[in-house]
Amino acid sequence: MTGIDLAAARADTPACRDRVFLDSAGSSLPPRPVLDAVTSHLRREAEIGGYRAAAERAEDLEDGYCAFAELLGCAPDEVAFTDSASRSWLAAFDALPLGPGDRLLVSEVEYASNGIALLRRAEEAGARVEAVPSDGSGQLDVAALRELLDERVRLVSLVHVPTNGGLVNPVREVAEAAHEVGALVLLDACQSVGQLPVRADELGVDLLSTTGRKWLRGPRGTGVLVVRRAAAERLRPRLVDNTGATWEAPDRVRLRDDARVFELFEYGVAARLGLIAAARYALDLGIQQIAEAVTERAAKLRDGLAALPGVDVRDLGRQRCGIVTFTVAGVPAGRVRDALWDAGVTVTVSPAASTPLDMSRRGLAEVVRASPHYFVSPEQIDTCVAEVARLAG
Ligand SMILES: *Cc1c(COP(=O)(O)O)cnc(C)c1O
Repeated sequence: MTGIDLAAARADTPACRDRVFLDSAGSSLPPRPVLDAVTSHLRREAEIGGYRAAAERAEDLEDGYCAFAELLGCAPDEVAFTDSASRSWLAAFDALPLGPGDRLLVSEVEYASNGIALLRRAEEAGARVEAVPSDGSGQLDVAALRELLDERVRLVSLVHVPTNGGLVNPVREVAEAAHEVGALVLLDACQSVGQLPVRADELGVDLLSTTGRKWLRGPRGTGVLVVRRAAAERLRPRLVDNTGATWEAPDRVRLRDDARVFELFEYGVAARLGLIAAARYALDLGIQQIAEAVTERAAKLRDGLAALPGVDVRDLGRQRCGIVTFTVAGVPAGRVRDALWDAGVTVTVSPAASTPLDMSRRGLAEVVRASPHYFVSPEQIDTCVAEVARLAG
């Protein structure tokens, strides 16, 4: 246990010297090996054509399933590559059979894209979407969940780490409770993979969606879906092409029986190679070491901001992670973001529209979101706090 080598991590991330980059929850800075994997493959495609270029990398592409199996605690044939977390989530959810009277439970920090799909399909099927209350700390209330669960619940949709705050939901307890009534658990791990250990086997989730570009530091336009074998038997994939299925007789098709039934033929091969490089990079650093560094940076930022007059830290939950959200009295979040940008600090705004249940419950229209990765130095955290102090003062 040696921790992250900060100098080496920063040397692999040249742009982290020019600015204080605090947006790994939005779209992080890829390390050099990821950038090289993407650009060298694009160049190769221009030299010999996309099919031959992909064939040259067939083994590495296949090995990507093993990399993500190792990262996410599942078998290689339980991994599917997609083009975003939402694509992963939608593909899995679309395959869940639903009928009249079925119930779908969500956490109060449900992500808007998931909520939109849940409500639209529920309306079509005559099913119902219900929010599980949060407890006093702000995390999902497991006792309240147990009271809501019955055999009509088909799915518990759980967001591991919300897009708008540093809380970490109690996944294993939720999965245990849900499984007692036979409900599937779909974990939105978009904000946890790459900053925290996230293993499907240890957490006990049936389905898991995540993205490449956030904490994993992969390229844009990449995502991953995990479908555990036992869950696969209960799904009816519908958005399937000739990669996920074979047209084996004039009147008959045969679906693949592994997670790749959810993949389509066409994808960005360069981006996929970059994503695989990002997973290998994270595995080489050590997920536990990454988690410790990220949690420490975020705690330093949170403490610094909380001590400033006129600044309210908005993070909830018992366990906190790398997302730090706050508001500055009298200064709209967009103005804070823009002023920090001018001062060399990159943050984003998380609007109520991304997490409407949680934000309306708390009466918040928007929060500023700062998400430091392990490559951000402690001095850069101090710079951010000093710039916010200037704005608030
Ligand atoms: C960003 C985000 C998503 C969507 O990810 P995409 O890759 O943009 O589809 C889903 N859930 C949470 C919690 C997010 O923060």
